[in-house]
Amino acid sequence: MKTKLHLLFGGKSAEHKVSMQTAKAVMNAVDQSIYEVHPIYIDQEGSWNKGPVLEGKVDDVHALAFQGEKNTVSPLAISERAVKGKELDSAQVNEVVFPLLHGPNGEDGTVQGLLEILGLPYVGNGVLASSAGMDKIAMKAIFEQAGLTQVKYVGFIRKDWEEQAERVMSKIETDIGYPCFVKPANLGSSVGISKCKNQEQLKEAVKEALRYDRKIIVEEGVNAREIEIGVIGNDELECSVVGEIVPKTEFYDYQSKYEDEDTGLIIPCELPNEIYEQIKDIAKRAYKSLDCSGLARMDFFLTKDNEILINEVNTMPGFTPYSMFPLLWKHSGLEYPALINKLVELAIEKHQEKL
Ligand code: ADP
Ligand code: MG
Ligand code: MG
Repeated sequence: MKTKLHLLFGGKSAEHKVSMQTAKAVMNAVDQSIYEVHPIYIDQEGSWNKGPVLEGKVDDVHALAFQGEKNTVSPLAISERAVKGKELDSAQVNEVVFPLLHGPNGEDGTVQGLLEILGLPYVGNGVLASSAGMDKIAMKAIFEQAGLTQVKYVGFIRKDWEEQAERVMSKIETDIGYPCFVKPANLGSSVGISKCKNQEQLKEAVKEALRYDRKIIVEEGVNAREIEIGVIGNDELECSVVGEIVPKTEFYDYQSKYEDEDTGLIIPCELPNEIYEQIKDIAKRAYKSLDCSGLARMDFFLTKDNEILINEVNTMPGFTPYSMFPLLWKHSGLEYPALINKLVELAIEKHQEKL
């Protein structure tokens, strides 16, 4: 019997389009002799639609054609079995959900919580790792506790800014200084992030970030190489080779991530062996500190004096065949279809351990 693979894609977040691209690539790559693909498209308004297969170019989401009927369903209707409340036999897992979603309502533990309640095995991180990984302030607090080195930062909420902006600013200027990076705490893809060189820019940047989140993080800006590594596994971890990002813009913003063709991805990148070993070790420690499972991409800053600072974890990293994470694995000997199989196997392994 083939395993049903429910692909969840689209979503309400700013990363809708990226998710569509990923879904299309995964649909084309899955081994049809092992899996039966069941697409579930979440539209930009957040309604769930069962059945449609993507057709045509994904460049323009609005022009995207769906093949087959689009049945709007309740999120609870992901799987027939789950709806009927049948127990999933641990020895015979024949359904797995692959949430190909990024950002809030997809990568942040909410969908993962739903899948837990439905008792369905799913690819990737659980509730805790997803939500802690999404909130940059929570993530940094956990990394700090785990003894990992990172940039200096200050976190605050909208109310703090509205009521005592002067105090918050003075704390930022004393503890961090310029340049600094202002970010919405819960987002990805560089949306709402600005680099500031003075107080005027800082005020503007906070205003901008507050459009996306009530919680803001401000970080010390470092001048460093950006190094990324893939980690997969549940209790036993494996690391990929390391990659480097060379953005042509001032920093790795939304445009350089998804629109510029000249953002360089160097895989594997040049690193002294000793630094590579340290990065692997820190990546695994960071993964464990958040109790990650399945997969994660760990992103680092490497300063001129070879200081390794952890920047962030991405619990559902970009996953098109041209994204960093799949490319890192390809260069580590795991091609895209094999990577998908591996992640599904890990999802089943984790599910069986829970039962
Ligand atoms: P996202 O989750 O949106 O990817 P990041 O924290 O990775 O957010 O920031 C996006 C990009 O902004 C990074 O890849 C890097 O280019 C730049 N950046 C972010 N924080 C800093 C920092 N503290 N110092 C220097 N550059 C930074
Ligand atoms: Mg991120
Ligand atoms: Mg990032």
